[in-house]
Amino acid sequence: MSVEKRFITEELARLKAEGLYTTIRTIESAQGPWVTIEGRRRLNLCSNNYLGLCSDSRICDRARAMIDVFGVGPGAVRTIAGTLSPHVELERKLAEFKGTEASMVVQSGFCANLSAVPPLVGKGDLVFSDELNHASIIDACRLSGATILRYPHNSPSGLREVLESRKDDPCRKLVATDGVFSMDGDVAPLPDLVEAAEAYGAMIMVDDAHGEGVLGRGGRGIVDHFGLHGRVDVEVGTLSKAFGVVGGFISGTVEMIDYLRQKARPNLFSSALTIPDVAANLASVEILKESDELVRKLWANGRLFKELMKKHGFDIGHSETPITPVILGEASVAKEFSARLFEEGIFAQAIAFPTVPKGSARIRVMVSAAHEPADLERAAEVFEKIGREMGKLGATAGNR
Ligand SMILES: *Cc1c(COP(=O)(O)O)cnc(C)c1O
Repeated sequence: MSVEKRFITEELARLKAEGLYTTIRTIESAQGPWVTIEGRRRLNLCSNNYLGLCSDSRICDRARAMIDVFGVGPGAVRTIAGTLSPHVELERKLAEFKGTEASMVVQSGFCANLSAVPPLVGKGDLVFSDELNHASIIDACRLSGATILRYPHNSPSGLREVLESRKDDPCRKLVATDGVFSMDGDVAPLPDLVEAAEAYGAMIMVDDAHGEGVLGRGGRGIVDHFGLHGRVDVEVGTLSKAFGVVGGFISGTVEMIDYLRQKARPNLFSSALTIPDVAANLASVEILKESDELVRKLWANGRLFKELMKKHGFDIGHSETPITPVILGEASVAKEFSARLFEEGIFAQAIAFPTVPKGSARIRVMVSAAHEPADLERAAEVFEKIGREMGKLGATAGNR
């Protein structure tokens, strides 16, 4: 290999040596509470399929039916020839669900952040960003060219301090935060962040990827949860988690969405969501609108699993949502734990740096409305057995 490319070999070796190399598992069945991996059924505790909708028959039926009418490919970017009536219908239904004037659908949650931030701020402007924001918010902010000022995690007073230090800058200002922080399951103190933004004349956006279908009435998200309708300029959402499909969206006023449609580069330069995606998402929104049964089941399962894990003496952090981080310390420990779970029939991947800070590697358990309480009771027992064998229970837990 040429000298110039040796860094690739070296970096791969380093990742492996430090336990940071991600082994990708292939799932040989439909996404669900139980999946087949390497020919064996395993309990799935690490997908974002919060409501079990990924393989719901109503969603699959709708996708099939709409393919018969509209085909599959959108054929173009939205702004040229890729806006089909299902796209428009989905946007209208999402806005209705979220209680906003308008919505715009893009290809993914990641793309939604890339669509939202650069049109709002640019070179010479300021973004005030929670220090633990999701990578896609960070990348969107970098792409915008604005100066990024980080504030301490979930700290409205910390945000106010940074806003105060730049209060005389005449530029545009944007506060950006995750709604639910996915690695710890904690929720942004959005009412206080909104007040701070309003006090300093800054715009505010929230990325509600893990709150969509989880928080608020019937899963309407963090803005609904806190009753902040009309006070958040941009709500970013994903259709890839609780909605069980793929895609992202942005909700706001008619004027805001009109503006973003004109400016957002993923909307202008990348083709629209496919028809089966749109159809399946339409079915998901309708299911969520009809009943909060799945959302309630998700929360009940989350509470049950957390109680069991706490009882067993695990360090499960301070999650306020069904997300349950099982904090284990070093990346190598979390990886070994995950491998032993796998041998015992449980699929739960380890998460380490750079997704979480060094020394706080974990197994992040994602319960779903589709799990049966008995699945979770059995899982907690297996965690307990391995935790005991690896000395990760009670006072010795965490290594933080
Ligand atoms: C998962 C996630 C995304 C990305 O969503 P995709 O639809 O998978 O691209 C964006 N932001 C946050 C906070 C997320 O958790």
